[in-house]
Amino acid sequence: MTELTDLYEKTGIRKSVYEFGEEILCGLRERFDGIDRIAEYNQMKVTGAMQDSQVNENCLHYYASGYGYNDPGRDVLEDVYASVFHTESALVRPQITCGTHALSLALGAVLRPGDELLSPVGKPYDTLEEVIGIRPSHGSLAEYGITYSQVELLADGTFDYDGIAKAVSERTKMVTIQRSKGYLTRPSFSVGQIGELIAFVKKLKPDVICMVDNCYGEFVEEKEPSDVGADMTVGSLIKNAGGGLAPIGGYIAGRKDLIDLCGYRLTSPGLGKEVGASLGVMQSFYQGLFLAPSVVAGALKGAVFAAGIYEKLGYKVIPNSTESRHDIIQAVELGTPEGVVAFCRGIQAAAPVDAYVTPEPWAMPGYDSDVIMAAGAFVAGSSIELSADGPMKPPYAVYFQGGLTWHHAKHGILMSLEYMAREGIVDL
Ligand SMILES: *Cc1c(COP(=O)(O)O)cnc(C)c1O
Repeated sequence: MTELTDLYEKTGIRKSVYEFGEEILCGLRERFDGIDRIAEYNQMKVTGAMQDSQVNENCLHYYASGYGYNDPGRDVLEDVYASVFHTESALVRPQITCGTHALSLALGAVLRPGDELLSPVGKPYDTLEEVIGIRPSHGSLAEYGITYSQVELLADGTFDYDGIAKAVSERTKMVTIQRSKGYLTRPSFSVGQIGELIAFVKKLKPDVICMVDNCYGEFVEEKEPSDVGADMTVGSLIKNAGGGLAPIGGYIAGRKDLIDLCGYRLTSPGLGKEVGASLGVMQSFYQGLFLAPSVVAGALKGAVFAAGIYEKLGYKVIPNSTESRHDIIQAVELGTPEGVVAFCRGIQAAAPVDAYVTPEPWAMPGYDSDVIMAAGAFVAGSSIELSADGPMKPPYAVYFQGGLTWHHAKHGILMSLEYMAREGIVDL
């Protein structure tokens, strides 16, 4: 029989790289146990929600077309999401095309001309700059007379409470809090920290609406932002919550009046959540949500493993291999464009789909520098699947995430290291 190490060697991973990985893994067993315990908790939460909402076969297979009045799969799924997130209501739709769309929808649904949006956690995710109008763009909130203000984080990555108190004004209608670091090297926030921030803002102005960009955060902890006061919790189904199976979609979970507004914004005033056919994607939405806690656990193990490896090699990794995790993203500051390119090419080479293609940096819509992306995914662009992105600008950090299974994440990370070794960037 072929040995496991031979299988790795056959894919091009040299023995010294494999052995280095095994050495790092030895120190991570306790960490992995902790990740599994959270997955178990979240699995019970998701299964319980499906049982409480009486999910049945009709929900999975009812084929709604046309207007989509009375689509039982869609309506029950929204109940399930509301139950998982402990919210009054939820909007979970294939018509929400991605995370940016879900966030744009939530903002546009609530804000009116003359209102102000505040980000108390520094700059939001790149694609939101055009949604808000930080970078001028067609259809931005700015074009509708909605203003924006931002309070930077303090140098140590914590909230600037004094600055926030000064920034909240009469016109502050909504606050947006991004849980994950995105393409920044700041820390991601724990749900606990987000809860403190929301409590602080609500004390200043009780009627302010707090939205959390939960992309990459779902099921990483036992609690979600909606458990600590968020009025709207927003994310993408081609990240954590879709469990790798959802082929499209986004969700917003929150207060009923706000979710109704999102429905009116998504479809049309007057129609709201009543329309929107699910066109046969429901089984993947349910089954993906069901798998999501353990898929997220696999991705987290991969992230911790990558942190362990690159930290040991002397790179700055955010978070480091011992810190607690609040999202599935692992940033590694490789410091050079060559490092970013080699890392991404290694990830690509381990993919089940498109492993033979060579990623190159290019100008992606919504981003302000060239970006190199490695993704050989079953769902195009899905970043709960093993993927890596690197904006081609200092500090030349690569953002690594996903892996539908831990073993595949491990393979990808070893392959990134192999490519770094081949280019002479690391010495193994
Ligand atoms: C991915 C992401 C988004 C945008 O989601 P897309 O599906 O890529 O449009 C927004 N915010 C954060 C923090 C993200 O990670």
